[in-house]
Amino acid sequence: MRAASSSFQPLVPSFDVIVIGSGIGGLVTATQLAAKGAKVLVLERYIISGGSAGYFEREGYRFDVGASMIFGLGSGGTTNLLTKALAAVDVSLETIPDSVQIHYHLPQGLDLKVHQNYEKFLQELTAYFPHERQGIRSFYDQCWKVFNCLNKMELLSLEEPRYLTQAFFQHPLACLGLAKYLPQNAGDVARRYIKDPQLLKFIDIECYCWSVVPADMTPMINAGMVFSDRHYGGINYPKGGVGQIAQKLVEGLEKTGGQIQYQARVTKIITENKQAVGVKLASGKVYRAKKIVSNATRWDTFEKLLPSEEMPNAERKWQQRYRKSSSFLSLHLGVKAEVLPKDTECHHILLADWEKMQAAEGTIFVSIPTLLDPDLAPPGYHIIHTFTPNWIADWQGSVSEYEQKKEEAAGRIIQRLEKIFPGLDAGLDFMEVGTPRTHRRFLGREDGTYGPIPRRKLMGLLGMPFNRTDVPGLYCVGDSTFPGQGLNAVAFSGFACAHRIAVDLGF
Ligand SMILES: Cc1cc2nc3c(=O)[nH]c(=O)nc-3n(C[C@H](O)[C@H](O)[C@H](O)COP(=O)(O)OP(=O)(O)OC[C@H]3O[C@@H](n4cnc5c(N)ncnc54)[C@H](O)[C@@H]3O)c2cc1C
Repeated sequence: MRAASSSFQPLVPSFDVIVIGSGIGGLVTATQLAAKGAKVLVLERYIISGGSAGYFEREGYRFDVGASMIFGLGSGGTTNLLTKALAAVDVSLETIPDSVQIHYHLPQGLDLKVHQNYEKFLQELTAYFPHERQGIRSFYDQCWKVFNCLNKMELLSLEEPRYLTQAFFQHPLACLGLAKYLPQNAGDVARRYIKDPQLLKFIDIECYCWSVVPADMTPMINAGMVFSDRHYGGINYPKGGVGQIAQKLVEGLEKTGGQIQYQARVTKIITENKQAVGVKLASGKVYRAKKIVSNATRWDTFEKLLPSEEMPNAERKWQQRYRKSSSFLSLHLGVKAEVLPKDTECHHILLADWEKMQAAEGTIFVSIPTLLDPDLAPPGYHIIHTFTPNWIADWQGSVSEYEQKKEEAAGRIIQRLEKIFPGLDAGLDFMEVGTPRTHRRFLGREDGTYGPIPRRKLMGLLGMPFNRTDVPGLYCVGDSTFPGQGLNAVAFSGFACAHRIAVDLGF
């Protein structure tokens, strides 16, 4: 008789939980569960953790792949979820506060800064729209109402009835407040108080710059979080770059007994009797667990990791309500320090024409993290990471066409940036251009998408799925789940996912 082959996999689960992907959503789920004593394995297809919050190094520069305006690293309240996630596994980060969230350079000469100081921001905005003094305050004060409700409660799984009951009895007014705002969008609330069309356009870009949809389609719960937390916990940059967040979470995961494997691409979620029981890797290796969590996008999860013909009805319905947002064209630049005007801000947004806010190459986002942490670049140089919406469909064709298009697009963006950074082109030391194809390849995200956006105006956040799915044993976490994109948002999703699984596993 032949000895059992080394690839023989026992049918008993080796892990309590397997997490597919080590984005911030996946890592928060994994660390929360490991801290509760669960046996956790994280499988990451790439060579490092972090996903869209990862980093890469070139010629002495350390670039953030995507995110660099970081919420959730504050010290007070309950909404500082990144701080809390790190602390749960006994790790922490040094952070550098940023006194201005964004410097906007907008059409019709609207040039203003969102200061961490709320009153200073309102003053600056009101100076452009004195006739809307009351409306401006009323709108942003509504956002504070949402935030103050959220910031009273421990943010866990809304799919856990006992937690909901407890939260209600502890904070009845906050819960009722949130229930009121849950089906509302920021645009509807803004129009209740503001009439000036240009100011309403400003509220649109305030939402668009993180939700990638205008105010009318941006849930009020998310707007309340972002528009208030920037003045409360503030924007804080991790010393050493954004990649530090994931690296520290991995350190904490391992300290608490969890495991992570890199270059471990999951190709299939294994189901038995329609229940998720394990995963298969590209290498052929199979792992089994009591619960499987996917940190991949919903499109990747339900169309690639599971047979698309077995897609649950709930997912089909979700796809009728939500679609993939654009991806980005990203320029990672190393520039001579003298290119930057004195006292410039870390984050800028440029738009020349309101009608082009959502168009490819319409809005330009800029981050200069070396203004906060100079060690990310060689002495005398800065990093400028600039990105703008772009769609994968525009990046087909031969290698030479692709390279030429990249160069032309980079030229157009640099030309536009010359307006705020004169001499940029001449001061370039390094440039690497990423397209939606780059985002798809290195971030493992279908079409390189930034995440789901509503196909039409929906009722606030009511349509966003939580962590459980209609496949028993399978959960989703990250920006395809409530409450959506952004590091602090996916951390919320991670806390909620881990909470629901811990209850389901009886931890
Ligand atoms: C250019 C850009 C700028 C941004 N700026 C900001 C910002 O300033 N502030 C902010 O808060 N947010 C920002 N964001 C958004 C934020 O980065 C994301 O919303 C967030 O990081 C998404 O986290 P996630 O956990 O959902 O998933 P991801 O970060 O997408 O991570 C998923 C992980 O799963 C892995 N994976 C996928 N499929 C598999 C598989 N089959 N097997 C194994 N592993 C797999 C991937 O490799 C990846 O590591 C930005 C995003 C981009 C792209």
